[in-house]
Amino acid sequence: MLKIVIHWFRQDLRLADNPALYVAAKQAQVLPVYIVDDKNPGIHKMGAASRWWLYRSLLALNHDLNGHLVVQTGDPQSILSELIKHYGVKAVYWNRCYEPWCIKRDKRIKKTLQQQGVAVQSYNGALLWEPHTILKNDGTPYKVFTPFYRRGCLSTEPPRQPLPKPEKLTTVNNNSSIESLRLVSNAAWESSLAAHNQVGEAAALQKLKQFLSNGINHYKEGRDFPARENVSRLSPHLHFGEISPNQVWYAVQARPDDVNRQHFCSELAWREFSYNLLYHFPDLPEKNLQQKFDQFPWQSNKKLLRYWQQGLTGYPIVDAGMRELWQTGTMHNRVRMIVASFLVKNLRIHWHDGAAWFWDCLVDADLANNSASWQWVAGCGADAAPYFRIFNPVTQAKKFDPQGDYIRQYVPELSKLSDRYLHNPWEASDETLKSAGIVLGETYPKPIVDLRTSREAALAAFASLKNVS
Ligand code: FAD
Repeated sequence: MLKIVIHWFRQDLRLADNPALYVAAKQAQVLPVYIVDDKNPGIHKMGAASRWWLYRSLLALNHDLNGHLVVQTGDPQSILSELIKHYGVKAVYWNRCYEPWCIKRDKRIKKTLQQQGVAVQSYNGALLWEPHTILKNDGTPYKVFTPFYRRGCLSTEPPRQPLPKPEKLTTVNNNSSIESLRLVSNAAWESSLAAHNQVGEAAALQKLKQFLSNGINHYKEGRDFPARENVSRLSPHLHFGEISPNQVWYAVQARPDDVNRQHFCSELAWREFSYNLLYHFPDLPEKNLQQKFDQFPWQSNKKLLRYWQQGLTGYPIVDAGMRELWQTGTMHNRVRMIVASFLVKNLRIHWHDGAAWFWDCLVDADLANNSASWQWVAGCGADAAPYFRIFNPVTQAKKFDPQGDYIRQYVPELSKLSDRYLHNPWEASDETLKSAGIVLGETYPKPIVDLRTSREAALAAFASLKNVS
């Protein structure tokens, strides 16, 4: 019988359906540990919004563990070794992560601990189907979503059923301070994030319950409208593992089969697809999956990038999205596509710059989803939107925010403008603008680029790639 087992929490900040914790709790007293590791991820270390979420999530987890969570900052290998020595630990368990730097680090730690006579076991607690289990008949990875999902995922074993919370979880008494991790530092911005986000396992379960009681009923159609309550908003909870995809999948599968259920499950599968791409193509965050894009003539323009980041482009839907991101740490999926397309196509700024800003500002920043989605929008990804399909932000806004509820919320200086001009204020007469209290170029910017000429320039840039093999 083992006396003490370390459960190393990573992206599994929950007690229910936690496979590694479940086994540990059955076998021994558990020493629950979280380590902030800023060394191994290199340039992919957590951004500011993620750190704020993590801080809140650790507070919630620590509360659920009766204040017994051990937290430290530093290199996990040496921290785990010290804890093992101090507590006489014989085994360390964790749930697997799939970021390339994590895989490398975890392999190294596993080998070292095993050489020291410590048992190490890892489990799948984050994915419905792990990437190494879903391959084409010829043993190569899928690069296109639909066959990945239909022929790969759905025709293999169904996902693991969720586990309950450990029946008896005895934790080792100790005292460490989450404040000492210094995860938070910008009080004004963080209080804005706090006003918009409930963090932790209980909040995640509550959000799922709420979504199942209402939002999912019109998911397929409603998910594209940013002002509607038809999306789950579970992504940060899934990223930090406050809820598992298995819990979500089976809760949704318990509902009658319809287009909404099917569509929601396929979106969960897009997350699986991103992880599949990151696992098999570990350069995904840096390198274009389609090599010909290496020759793309991107523009380096710090001023335009800053206007985009600050939500001052003069295109109301783009500005609403970028301000939603800044104020809440999240952005609706449809609007993420619009702002990303605007950056990489109308401004022709490299998708790396967009991904980096999202990485710092999103509470759901996720290396797999963020990298795969940016490559998808930029047209250089595996199963990407074709580059020549360029979103028109005005048409998109008219279609998906027709009454302008979303724009009015995040761009209040335009709120008095009628629906007719809300999406395109530069076309309104001076009189119309005046009666809405707007002075273009003063109270709200004029468009920073012309849509037609920037579109043509983007298409010409894309055409220049045709000669590249
Ligand atoms: P729902 O519609 O309720 O979907 C449920 C879950 O399915 C989500 O929580 C998410 O885990 C998954 N999902 C849904 N849509 C997608 C998708 N298109 N790709 C992958 N998984 C999906 N998602 C992140 O989690 N982290 C990111 O860093 C991230 N960066 C993105 C960057 C860009 C440019 C774009 C276009 C999309 C990005 N996404 C990212 C995907 C998507 O926008 C979010 O997952 C979604 O908006 C989360 O909202 P939700 O939880 O309400 O989604």
